[in-house]
Amino acid sequence: MLASLALAAAGQGAIVNGWQARPKRRRLAREVTPIKGKLALEDYEPKSMLHVTETQVPRARFPVIDFHTHLSWSARRRQVTEAHNNATPEEVIPIMDRKNLRMMVNLTGGYGKVLEQTINYWQKPHPDRFVVFTEPWFEKITEPGYAQFQADQIVRAQALGARGLKLLKTLGLYLREQVTSGRLVKIDDRRFDPMWEAAGAQRMPVAIHTSDPEAFFLPTDRFNERYEELSAHPDWSFHGKDFPSNLELQEARNRVMARHPGTQFVVLHVGDSENLPYVSELLDRYPNMHVETGARIGELGRQPRASRKFFDKYQDRILFGTDAVPGGNDTPQQIFGEQLYEIYYRFLETEDEYFDYAPAPKPPQGRWRIYGIGLPEKILRKVYYENAERLLGLKR
Ligand SMILES: [Zn+2]
Repeated sequence: MLASLALAAAGQGAIVNGWQARPKRRRLAREVTPIKGKLALEDYEPKSMLHVTETQVPRARFPVIDFHTHLSWSARRRQVTEAHNNATPEEVIPIMDRKNLRMMVNLTGGYGKVLEQTINYWQKPHPDRFVVFTEPWFEKITEPGYAQFQADQIVRAQALGARGLKLLKTLGLYLREQVTSGRLVKIDDRRFDPMWEAAGAQRMPVAIHTSDPEAFFLPTDRFNERYEELSAHPDWSFHGKDFPSNLELQEARNRVMARHPGTQFVVLHVGDSENLPYVSELLDRYPNMHVETGARIGELGRQPRASRKFFDKYQDRILFGTDAVPGGNDTPQQIFGEQLYEIYYRFLETEDEYFDYAPAPKPPQGRWRIYGIGLPEKILRKVYYENAERLLGLKR
């Protein structure tokens, strides 16, 4: 953990210095032998020759609440009995201070004993810096009376200090009738109705991750714009088998928002960041819907004009989030560290052109680069902290 954080810190500056100034990486030093003039895609690391402005944004202009982080993991696919922390508060806080990151929301706080441990570890000693969300106890779905049990767990979690409810894409894509086998459980399954209602009654916002990039539902072939990402993570593909389509998943989530107007939903990853017209339609339709930016500036930043209009129109409904994971080296776009925040700040605060959306030698989500949207101060304040403060009930 310390090693990976140190690594992230050591890499600081690589982004702000831009391509030309980057030190040669190990990967580049390797001899790549062209075969009859052909170069393997994985070896291709083109450097932009554009002479464009490179603005350094080492600190956010206003204090930031990162609404989407994973400082700890709880159950992912199976039940766990101990919280797994990805870092210590002592490792994280100095980086937060340097980046003007006032607070991190640790969404994956789990349930039961793990939730209690996680709150005691992060939130209790540092209530101004860390907030912990709870998660549903999906393993109990096979038991009679689950619906009421799950609603009661929300009330219990709130009493322990949990500030919201988090749903992984597990709901819709992994959870099955017998937990890991049987038919997939639908997002709008009636058994969850008391849970959504309890979250609303306890004033706990629901952070919900539904579906994934559209390319994950297509064959991993030469036409897939996320070919490299899916090749690196074959288990991220939802093509074929019995998976619902992206639209079916989104629509099931929409029915939940419609059915529970007193519950505030924060739709993670901008919902469907590749389809801002669709997300805009939903924001117009559901006043209890908000969106969060985690791991999607790659998408927002490659359509900067549409994104800028989207931020203008929905400035009261967009929350800053990164999906940061300390030590999350498998997913460079999510590695908690100084570089990650500098990229997000640069995207939101500057009008810089054609820069990397992740601290990595190759763009990890797809072969493109992004453009800043230069938000005015009023919108920046809302996105950085005001909207999150309101939803979390932190208004001072
Ligand atoms: Zn996440």
